[in-house]
Amino acid sequence: MNPAAITTQSLIVLLGMALYFGLAFENFFARDAPHRPGGIRTFPMLALAGAAAYGLEPQTGLILAAGVVVLGLWLFAYYRSDPTGEGREFIAGDAAHQHPPYGGFGLNTGLEDAANLGWKLAARLQGWGGDQLLASYSEERRPIFVETGEAMIAGWIDRDRSFLDRYSPEIDKAEFEQAWSELGKSANQPQSYESRYEGSSVVVGSPGATCTIHGDYQHRARPGHHLSPRNLSNGRNVFQELGTGFTLLAFGADPAAADIEQAARSLNVPLKVVRDRCEGDVTGYEARLVLVRPDQYVVWSGDEAPDDPAAILRRVTGSG
Ligand SMILES: Cc1cc2nc3c(=O)[nH]c(=O)nc-3n(C[C@H](O)[C@H](O)[C@H](O)COP(=O)(O)OP(=O)(O)OC[C@H]3O[C@@H](n4cnc5c(N)ncnc54)[C@H](O)[C@@H]3O)c2cc1C
Repeated sequence: MNPAAITTQSLIVLLGMALYFGLAFENFFARDAPHRPGGIRTFPMLALAGAAAYGLEPQTGLILAAGVVVLGLWLFAYYRSDPTGEGREFIAGDAAHQHPPYGGFGLNTGLEDAANLGWKLAARLQGWGGDQLLASYSEERRPIFVETGEAMIAGWIDRDRSFLDRYSPEIDKAEFEQAWSELGKSANQPQSYESRYEGSSVVVGSPGATCTIHGDYQHRARPGHHLSPRNLSNGRNVFQELGTGFTLLAFGADPAAADIEQAARSLNVPLKVVRDRCEGDVTGYEARLVLVRPDQYVVWSGDEAPDDPAAILRRVTGSG
């Protein structure tokens, strides 16, 4: 851009952008919005001033295009649609829930919706998914994005607001730093965010379990939890061996695996059996048999074949 083109209007734009980024990173996204609402109002006005300058000063298009991006203001709120599935319509991604960029939940949550819904739609269309399978989409995913909004996003905002009401580095820096450090160790940290569907009707979970974001990460193969990555004896990661339908991991459990395989065949449920020795990395699963559904969630695990393998398969495919 020609330096001579920098005029009063483009300086207004630059000022607007500088204030925007200042607000965004120091105050707006982080925590100061409830304390300085006037600051929030200042930014769009300056951005609008910049956009107005666009018509007057076409040479400054590059800068002003960035100014227009500024107008894509995130609301410091989240919303969710209700419900996620009704009849033949299912909603996923931002159409079902939107979050401010506070923790990076937006796309991640949407992709998990797609992974959850995709195989269920395929199972219905291919004829091996039962009536309950599509209903389980809402049953499993809705609590996840409701809790993500309420506990992680709104919860963090409330927590930060209370914290800043109580502590200030301007009043007592040492106390502020100590409290800030303690805050980082409190609940709702990323490592305790684990989408799990233990309470789902298509998972053989523990009695009384729920679908929730509150959990932890373990190698143990727990029904309703995402399968943990482990190396097989051939050196490949287990995720490289999973099939496109269900997968049964069988570690030194051949006769039991054959029973489950036979039941799957009789029900037309696509099942790949991955057989390996029960030693090394895979012992972390703490089960000789692990049944994994197409979105990589464990639906059943055990050391022996279940009494009625067909009943398990009917349940996890929404027919039981
Ligand atoms: C500034 C910003 C920062 C973000 N940061 C993060 C982050 O760090 N981590 C994270 O996980 N997420 C983040 N997100 C959120 C993430 O981008 C969204 O959650 C994600 O893009 C949503 O994907 P989607 O497919 O559900 O919706 P969209 O990406 O909105 O896709 C919907 C599509 O449908 C099209 N469409 C709309 N109406 C119609 C119609 N009538 N006919 C045909 N097409 C139509 C739209 O044009 C669009 O292409 C961020 C978003 C923004 C804006």
